[in-house]
Amino acid sequence: MPARTSRLLRLTVASAVALGVGTSTALAAPADVGAPGIGDPYYKNYGNGGYDVGHYGINVAYDPSSDLLTGTTTITATATQDLRRFNLDFVLKASAVTVNGAPARFSASSHELTVTPATPVTSGGAMTIVVTYAGVPSKVSDNGIRPWVKTADGAVAVGEPEIAAWWYPSNDHPRDKATFDVRATVPKGVEALSNGLVKRITYGKTTDTWVWRSAKPQATYLTFLAVGQFDVTQGTSASGLPWINAVASNGGQEGTYAKADLARTPEVIDWHTRAWGKYPFEATGGVAPAADFGFALENQTRPVYTRGFWRNGPNIYVVVHEQGHQWYGDGVSVHNWKDIWLNEGFATFTTWYWSETHGEGTGQQILQEVYGIPATDAFWSTVIGDPGAGNEFDGAVYDRGAATLQALRNRIGDPAFFQVMRTWAAKHRYGNAQIADFIALAERVSGQDLGRFFHHWLYTGTKPAATAENGLDGVSPTAARVAAPKSLDKIRAVQQVELSARH
Ligand SMILES: [Zn+2]
Repeated sequence: MPARTSRLLRLTVASAVALGVGTSTALAAPADVGAPGIGDPYYKNYGNGGYDVGHYGINVAYDPSSDLLTGTTTITATATQDLRRFNLDFVLKASAVTVNGAPARFSASSHELTVTPATPVTSGGAMTIVVTYAGVPSKVSDNGIRPWVKTADGAVAVGEPEIAAWWYPSNDHPRDKATFDVRATVPKGVEALSNGLVKRITYGKTTDTWVWRSAKPQATYLTFLAVGQFDVTQGTSASGLPWINAVASNGGQEGTYAKADLARTPEVIDWHTRAWGKYPFEATGGVAPAADFGFALENQTRPVYTRGFWRNGPNIYVVVHEQGHQWYGDGVSVHNWKDIWLNEGFATFTTWYWSETHGEGTGQQILQEVYGIPATDAFWSTVIGDPGAGNEFDGAVYDRGAATLQALRNRIGDPAFFQVMRTWAAKHRYGNAQIADFIALAERVSGQDLGRFFHHWLYTGTKPAATAENGLDGVSPTAARVAAPKSLDKIRAVQQVELSARH
């Protein structure tokens, strides 16, 4: 996702830390009750304990005229402890829940749906959970968050970290990945788009039903639904990868630019593959709705882009950024949300490297530009290795984040650096990892002690000194740019759309 800043949330978190809020030990759940959170230090109620989801079968009907969404989601999971009670993350109103075929009792509070099966599930046991529900997602707010995007002729379910709970119940944390079938019934005349490949489309008298399957482990927030009038194109890349693109039929001039850039997706994927190794998934593409939600999101196999990215013309950099996440963010996902540098710093670095290989400025030149930001600037105050809840999309996580990787490249040299990047994507593919795992890998591959290097870059709120240790020898802290890299404004524009959307 391109950058989002929230000074308000940053202050809130800082105050909470100062007051010691959140440092007390939570009351432990009884041994046979699933915890209401998976254990993320930023979001204690996100995800759930006690079970591991293998597959979601989401079946929704959506009416754009009323924004009413009705659904039945079937969750196939395995209990990881004895469960007489467990939670799902969900904000719409459930009308029925069954567990292993028997009606279950349930209650809702905030975004937790607490389920009590008729028969407790034993550790290791299979669970099939079916939830029937309905609601108007754009009207539902949880903790001040209302991520569902209503458009003129449909809707877009896209958001990070929050979106899943607004259209299907889940264990809503990247740590519990699963495969997905998304079946969406919509009025004739609009399309329903999601991840992976279309298994079939059933044409009815007044509605059509689209069935999508995403066959590799996928995080809940990376599962999307876009409904509206789209021009859908599809094909197979030279390397054999199926692609499906969709641009709003009423997308205007922005849509024309979007169509041209999304058509380059196979080329972008092939470029990433040469740089970082095997593409992790079975399909690719992109979706550009006629909507101004202010960001793009790297939905697995098929990113979704706000139209503002094409307001000023072509913008291949946003496509490179979102597709870079397929390796860094989607293939390898964060263990906790505080690991967000592994997503945004890395995706941003892929745009620096794209710039370098396309003659628009080298990674080192862009590093020089970022390093030219004065030490007194608030930019350097973000601790990007642990930015705080609500600050995951601070601009520094992107720019200082990418600078960290270019500096690492300077420090350990290209052969070791690219080996680290490729090994990272391969070793943790379809799983999760933490920043400490990346540091350990970089040290192992390079044979260097990089503790102080990463401390300076990731874990201080100050500008790293221009030393060889920091990968900054040869970089002047105050150098005026001689010739700005051609790519710089384009790379920054990827983030500025978000800022302009909010100011
Ligand atoms: Zn991103």
